[in-house]
Amino acid sequence: MENYLVSARKYRPSTFDSVVGQKALTLTLRNAIATNKLAHAYLFCGSRGVGKTSCARIFAKTINCQHPTPDGNPCNECDSCRAFNEGRSLNIVELDAASNNSVDDIRSLTEQVQVLPTNGKYRVFIIDEVHMLSSSAFNAFLKTLEEPPGYVIFILATTEKHKILPTILSRCQIYDFNRITVADMVDHLEYVARQEGYTTERQALNVIASKADGAMRDALSIFDQVAASSRGNITYRQTIDNLNVLDESYYTRLMEAFITANVPQALLIYKEIRDKGFDSHFFINGLASFLRDLMMAQTPVTLEMLDAEVDVKQKMVELAAKCPPQFFYAAMSLCNDADLNYRQASNKNFLVELLLIKLCQLQSPSQNFSDDGEGQLKPIVADKTAAAAPQPAPKAAPAPQPSPVQHPRPATPPPAPAPAPQPAARRKTTLMSGGPSLRDLKKTPQQAETHTAAAVTRRTGSYTVEQVLKAWQDYMTNHPTEQVLVNTMRASLPVKISGDTFRITVENHAQTNLMSARMPELLAFLRDSLSNDLITIEIAENHDAGSPHTWNDRELLHHIMQQNPAIRDLVDSFKLTL
Ligand SMILES: [Zn+2]
Repeated sequence: MENYLVSARKYRPSTFDSVVGQKALTLTLRNAIATNKLAHAYLFCGSRGVGKTSCARIFAKTINCQHPTPDGNPCNECDSCRAFNEGRSLNIVELDAASNNSVDDIRSLTEQVQVLPTNGKYRVFIIDEVHMLSSSAFNAFLKTLEEPPGYVIFILATTEKHKILPTILSRCQIYDFNRITVADMVDHLEYVARQEGYTTERQALNVIASKADGAMRDALSIFDQVAASSRGNITYRQTIDNLNVLDESYYTRLMEAFITANVPQALLIYKEIRDKGFDSHFFINGLASFLRDLMMAQTPVTLEMLDAEVDVKQKMVELAAKCPPQFFYAAMSLCNDADLNYRQASNKNFLVELLLIKLCQLQSPSQNFSDDGEGQLKPIVADKTAAAAPQPAPKAAPAPQPSPVQHPRPATPPPAPAPAPQPAARRKTTLMSGGPSLRDLKKTPQQAETHTAAAVTRRTGSYTVEQVLKAWQDYMTNHPTEQVLVNTMRASLPVKISGDTFRITVENHAQTNLMSARMPELLAFLRDSLSNDLITIEIAENHDAGSPHTWNDRELLHHIMQQNPAIRDLVDSFKLTL
């Protein structure tokens, strides 16, 4: 144990090739060295633990190396390289601006700049956390930075590029370091483990890498911690216990409960999680980011944004394919609400249980036919298709299902008016799960009427969401004088929920009234514009954000006038304007 070195130091890279996760950047640096095109000042930007200081040291070593390799790496054997590796080279000066940020510190630095290099060609000054320099220190430094002696190279490093003065930025060659990906970190940890003779499970290294959040140094110190407590046998189980990480399989099992609308199962899993001592707020956030990752796994384009190993990604893709995108939008929104409300909730467990119930309902068969809604136009032409919608209630009742995933619906939905899965709107009353739908009881004669009317002249032209937004805009353009209407429409653009159903979210009750009053005319306009009579818009009210404080003057006046006819008369009779 006497020679124990933490891995972050022991496995500090000594050549550009051994720097983890910065391939493109180190290649550029090597090329600059190999072709002898050196700037006199560099700025290395990037978050902590991504290799900025390591690269600066390797750079300093390489440009002083007596026999650099043709591809721009140091030989690590010559006198100069050895002096660097043993930390006794005088050609490298490191200053941590976080603790040495005064004018005096800079003055002593600029004095050192005058000293000629020994045993090499260049003296390299590394100023770490350079954004921490006081502005007077910055100014004192500027002149030296502008015209340093030919043998001096400055490498400034910062985690906060936006705090660097433009005068400094313009004098430096800038290199942006990437966060290190989980895959790169896992590879490196595996390499370190091999060198140390540890046995590892790759899944365990994945947990360590995710926990390190893009910083290799952190990954290595977490790795040391786990290795020490597991005596060099790094298993997944050991690692999640040691790091107090919730086993991902809980989230996977919960997803299965959501997909099968299995409320009891979801609640039981939540109890298990609590019994293991996990905090509920932590759980909500973990679930939210798991859902976010799944959503990213839904399309190849967004899959790129998922920082995970290939086989982990593959599993996410398979799981994500079991739900429509709308499920994830709604689920993430529900988690976000729960997160925001958590602190105020007097009964936290109840809040989480309610969240899980709602999540189970998103995919519940009772959600299959779209929600209530005035102006709802379900195509009811022949009895055959009409029956397809609300009928299969008994079949829909979800029996509590054990683990193996079972889909409530066939993978390929039947053609014709296949009931599209629909996320539960935030404020809407929905049944707990299964059972007959509220809607069956709620059908109004008025709705029946519209159905018959629609059956006669139904147009079913195809259209894109962009065209809907365009028509929405056109309607606004056609009513230029109606400021309140135009503002409301602009702030609540229709969002496609399923099939031909769109939803707008307004901020308050006055806006709901306004839009409801306008809806028949607006819908007629949209349906004409898009030659499709199935288009439907439902209005949701956003109670979280809605308060009179968010209204502009006009909306407020409109509201007051609605509440108070006397004021409206006053405004009208004196032709008052804002
Ligand atoms: Zn060398």
